[in-house]
Amino acid sequence: MSSTPFAQLQQEARLRDLADPLASFRQRFAYPSIHPSAIYFTGNSLGLMPLDARQSIEQELNTWSTFGVEGHFEGAQPWVSFHEPFAHWLAPILGAEPQEVVAMGSLTANLHFLMASFYRPSSTRFKILCEGSSFPSDFYALDSQAKWHGFNPKEAVVELHPRSGEHVLRTEDIVQRIHELGSELALVLLGGVNYLTGQFFDLKNITAEAHKVGAVMGTDLAHAVGNVPLNLHDWNIDFAAWCSYKYLNSGPGATAGIFVHERHLGKNDLPRLEGWWGNRADTRFLMGRHIQPAQTAEAWQLSNAPVLNMAAQRASLQIFADAGQQRLHQKRESLVDFFLMAYQALLQEVPKGSLDCLTPTNPAERGCQSSLVFPGRGKSFFEWLSKAGVIADWREPNVVRIAPVPLYNTHSEVWNFLELVRQGLHN
Ligand SMILES: *Cc1c(COP(=O)(O)O)cnc(C)c1O
Repeated sequence: MSSTPFAQLQQEARLRDLADPLASFRQRFAYPSIHPSAIYFTGNSLGLMPLDARQSIEQELNTWSTFGVEGHFEGAQPWVSFHEPFAHWLAPILGAEPQEVVAMGSLTANLHFLMASFYRPSSTRFKILCEGSSFPSDFYALDSQAKWHGFNPKEAVVELHPRSGEHVLRTEDIVQRIHELGSELALVLLGGVNYLTGQFFDLKNITAEAHKVGAVMGTDLAHAVGNVPLNLHDWNIDFAAWCSYKYLNSGPGATAGIFVHERHLGKNDLPRLEGWWGNRADTRFLMGRHIQPAQTAEAWQLSNAPVLNMAAQRASLQIFADAGQQRLHQKRESLVDFFLMAYQALLQEVPKGSLDCLTPTNPAERGCQSSLVFPGRGKSFFEWLSKAGVIADWREPNVVRIAPVPLYNTHSEVWNFLELVRQGLHN
């Protein structure tokens, strides 16, 4: 593809970095200093700490120390409605209406809460379609949902696998499987971006096909939110869940979130597992015997907000708002484009068969992440990269996942990383 020798692309990386309108955003993060030339490429696993998170958490500690219980009604952002603005901050990242979004809970737990409403199998329609390379927690959630409803997960949970010799799923094969399962299919639950391969699914078309056979479409956006452009509302997705500690940089164990499509809001015939924070805000404190469900996705919220934890997310979402979706996606596209160009150039210069990539090369089918394979190299190669300062992530048997992200990574880091790979593969 590329005729430019790999070494010359170092200059291209510098030029792109000089022209990067988001370059200064890196200074808003605590960039790890554990290695003098650290390259932090694990924003897909734990995003870096926004420096403002400290002050944001301190603000709530101050409210607590100054007002005690009155902090629910006093202070700059009273706790009683603390979660409310998060829906507005998250909506543009998800392509959702604010009333469709709630920051709450944790990812796997939220998947269960959503399936309580949206996986309601019958004796004939009980199958769930998912990726064969789903994240383990998602498998456990799906299997246990099937068992909870009295089904054998081996029958109920249907996995999609790539064609032999291919790394990722073809949309046409997913669609064909949906139609084969037809009236047996209750739920399609796909990652937005697969955690292992980095494949970004065609959620819009898959949702349309799932609906054609009468199935519900849900998606786990753990690796998609804050990464790829999403349009959950327009794509008609029924429900979604995500975690916030990956691309959303909200800190370890950060409060996660859910999306429920507008057409499911305010319905009395849709069962939910409920708690008091799902009650309408205006009557919540009347402490009535029976819930009056919120007419928004807040109806799925159970408990009052974990304020100290969400204060970190507040600082992060401010950065997303300042950067803007358009600039973020342009930078991501530039990082991906540069990665693909440099990777192709590098392939010409390393021993044949020593390097492969699981992630699609079509920019529309991927986000920041690239999953590199080093056949026959094993973990020692990854350890060597780590010693050289690369903070990446290892998956058995020989996959190294890297995720150069728009808010704090550079094109030069991409080149520097690939240069280390080049050196390593010649050893
Ligand atoms: C990261 C990740 C999880 C983690 O689940 P938690 O409930 O946040 O611990 C689950 N599913 C997927 C697809 C993930 O990528």
